[in-house]
Amino acid sequence: MSESEEDFEAGAHRSVVRRGKRVGSASEPLVTPIWPSVAWRSGGPDALDALYDHPGSGYTYAREGHPNADVLADKLDWLEGGEGGLITASGMAALAGVVLGVVERGQHVIAGNQLYGRSARLLGRDLRRFGVSVTFADATDAEAIAAEIRPETRLIVIETVSNPLLGIADLEGIAALARRHGILLAVDNTFTTPRAIRPLEFGADVVFNSVTKLLAGHSDVTLGHVLVRDRLLRDQIRDAVVTWGLTPSPFDCWLAERGLHSFALRYDRATENATELADFLAELEGVEQVLYPGRPDHPQHGRARHLLGGNWGQMLSFRLAGGRAAVAAMVEAMPHVPFAPTLGDVATLISHPATSSHRGLLPAERAALGIDEGLVRVSVGIEDIELIKDEFERGIAAARAAARAGGDEGEAEPEAG
Ligand SMILES: *Cc1c(COP(=O)(O)O)cnc(C)c1O
Repeated sequence: MSESEEDFEAGAHRSVVRRGKRVGSASEPLVTPIWPSVAWRSGGPDALDALYDHPGSGYTYAREGHPNADVLADKLDWLEGGEGGLITASGMAALAGVVLGVVERGQHVIAGNQLYGRSARLLGRDLRRFGVSVTFADATDAEAIAAEIRPETRLIVIETVSNPLLGIADLEGIAALARRHGILLAVDNTFTTPRAIRPLEFGADVVFNSVTKLLAGHSDVTLGHVLVRDRLLRDQIRDAVVTWGLTPSPFDCWLAERGLHSFALRYDRATENATELADFLAELEGVEQVLYPGRPDHPQHGRARHLLGGNWGQMLSFRLAGGRAAVAAMVEAMPHVPFAPTLGDVATLISHPATSSHRGLLPAERAALGIDEGLVRVSVGIEDIELIKDEFERGIAAARAAARAGGDEGEAEPEAG
């Protein structure tokens, strides 16, 4: 025994700081442990060299990667049909990682004109500050995208189902264009999830998700996932994610993994509920229009059937007569349905795109897209459908009353024809 070990045994300089017994077991835990460790100790300089030279052989520093992210990435990769996917700190971090990893100054990006609000801002404002030009076009029409292609176009970013009007992108047409012109196609799959569609199988080069939403499913996690077909591009995006610090927390990864166990059940139940709720709302007086890909009156219903295979998803939108006052009355009459700007929760949530996801646009820009003050977006949850229907029936009755009162005072918006 060395002198210091003798001291330790004798308790001369007692300290528990990184000293003491490590746990091992001949058996394995059923549940993935949480590894919050920022740093990983190795045997010395040669061992550390080997770890850096062979990514995947072991961990070094948590921003470079950690087991909880890898466990989660592996499951999401499998759902999306690829490998080598990256977990990021948020859905926005996934998009940021893609852009930082593949786009250079002087290049051009084409984006769908109904992207998630922050995505539109990242591309339309922030990216321009770095000398990248960006144009927006209607992704339901491949010709509209084709018209924007330039020699320096590097990337196209779309969502298969748009927010909040639920337009269905011409994914196959755009993928064919992108391939023909050597442009990368990145698809945000958050609204649809890999339960409805795996964009890589339709020709996308990159697919990313806000795991925050339906995948984790309980509104207690902020995370993203990005999966890249090409190995080299994947490594560029990984370097951007690690360097710009877009990496996730182990605890969030652990929670998301737990949420994922019930993802398929939640998705199917929410889709069933949304399908029934859409038809129910369409019959209520005061509802001017229901937008849901599963309804035959949806403008791209046939394309939705082809791309989503009947997995229409939990998102629907509808237009209320009476504008903002009617929406406010509806929200007030539905105290158990949270008015909250997120989606994909276990509970049904209502939001108002004009004041949340699309508040950054000018009223004229919103009007051009068809986002008026009476538009309501619903993320349908997994509750008993009869309960959800009762609540909306009550809410829309209150909206009708408000619209009538507003009409008497001459304050209501003119009803859409
Ligand atoms: C929420 C959302 C994002 C951003 O994800 P965060 O995890 O909130 O950063 C991106 N795209 C879509 C379609 C979203 O709904």
